Amino acid sequence: MIHTMIKTRFAPSPTGLMHLGNVRTALFNALFAYQTGGVFLLRIEDTDLERSKLEFTQQLLADLRWLGLLWQEGPEVGGTQSSYAQSERGDIYAKYYAELEAKNLAYPCFCSPQELAISRKIQLSSGKAPRYSGNCDHLSPTDIQRKLEQGLQPTLRFRLPRHRLIEFTDIVRGNQQFASADIGDFIIRRADGTPAFFFCNAVDDALMGVTCVLRGEDHLANTPRQILILESLNLPVPQYGHISMILGADNAPLSKRNGSLSIQELKQNGWLAEAVVNYLARLGHTFTEEIGLRPLAELAQHFSLERLGKAPAHFDMQQMQHWQQAAMNQIDTSRLWQLLDAEVHALVPSELQQEFISAVRPNLLFPKEALHWAKVLFTDELVMEDSARDTLQQAGAAFFTHAITALETSQADYKQLIQLLKESTGTKGKNLFMPLRAALTGETHGPEMAHLLSLMGVARARHRLQNAAQFC
Ligand code: GLU
Repeated sequence: MIHTMIKTRFAPSPTGLMHLGNVRTALFNALFAYQTGGVFLLRIEDTDLERSKLEFTQQLLADLRWLGLLWQEGPEVGGTQSSYAQSERGDIYAKYYAELEAKNLAYPCFCSPQELAISRKIQLSSGKAPRYSGNCDHLSPTDIQRKLEQGLQPTLRFRLPRHRLIEFTDIVRGNQQFASADIGDFIIRRADGTPAFFFCNAVDDALMGVTCVLRGEDHLANTPRQILILESLNLPVPQYGHISMILGADNAPLSKRNGSLSIQELKQNGWLAEAVVNYLARLGHTFTEEIGLRPLAELAQHFSLERLGKAPAHFDMQQMQHWQQAAMNQIDTSRLWQLLDAEVHALVPSELQQEFISAVRPNLLFPKEALHWAKVLFTDELVMEDSARDTLQQAGAAFFTHAITALETSQADYKQLIQLLKESTGTKGKNLFMPLRAALTGETHGPEMAHLLSLMGVARARHRLQNAAQFC
């Protein structure tokens, strides 16, 4: 079906911090909407009053904004609805409950949790899939009245058509068929009066004009129920697409236990938003060609629903690091500077900021690693790694005495320093570069020495070469 305007949505329940899994769902919905010039809507599904927390909602909005996943309709942005938080939409749902009851498509159920548990057990032990027995399906108005007068609080159940085949085309998984007989009448309003997920989720998609729902495959079995609710209420049914799960290294769904960090933690640990979205855009989705690190708008241009994978996607930390490195290489200097620790800001002289960033950037995976180089370059502190010590010893004191002499002529010109030292010591290649690097930085790896020497200056370099000579 071709819609004039695509409207996708992300409908998180604010019962915890956002993780990579939920973010990827949000991302795919956002990319599809952005691509088509449609609307990406955000709805907060906070009907579970006990588990939903305002602080999680606030964090969720902040996380989405940090990632650049901006919604065109929803909380703090507005739109046609009075509220985008389900906890504030009770009156709307009440109207639809009444409509279903009036049509005899919903009925109060007084079965206690204990009764339901027993019925489930009996069905399971006789090898049947558990579903509601239909106990309260035929209560007479008098029975219902009597139970209400006893103070019993019923749930409201949706009365399923008995012999219906529910069929739909899933955007990702193709044709799907479910028999209503396999489902069983399900609860659409809890005993405490709050709406059940199936119900308000479907009703809101329809009322909010959502045309396309991309969500986790764990919701696939909910879809036939939701289609029936919408049809019963003469409300439009969106297109559904159920995307594959993300699995951890242990093949279990990605969660805190097997390595998923919350978005908040990723941000605090120095992951760049570009890296996270570029990685996730390739997790369970493939681009026709490899397009490299791209801003969201360009990822959207290359996104295609047809290339959403059916098979579970495996989370791979190394891949995410690859995108982090790519993002670190591309981030502009002033933004990178802002991300560095206050201690780095205090250590690096302002006139050397640019040079410092260009020198250390290729060696940083995370902004916090810059502090190490700021200390190497602008403080007297120098921690000698074992490999550096070995290198110094192999080079011997005379090498460093020559280096000090060469430095007096070359000053901070590294190329000249190397040339002079090569001539005076007769060494070349690794034997020439490594001892110098080890003496000046305490390490055998790191950013380009020409930059480092120029940044640390002649006085500090001389001092370190003297220490190296003494050490040998
Ligand atoms: N609130 C539901 C969840 O977070 C939304 C499911 C859906 O996208 O329909 O799982």
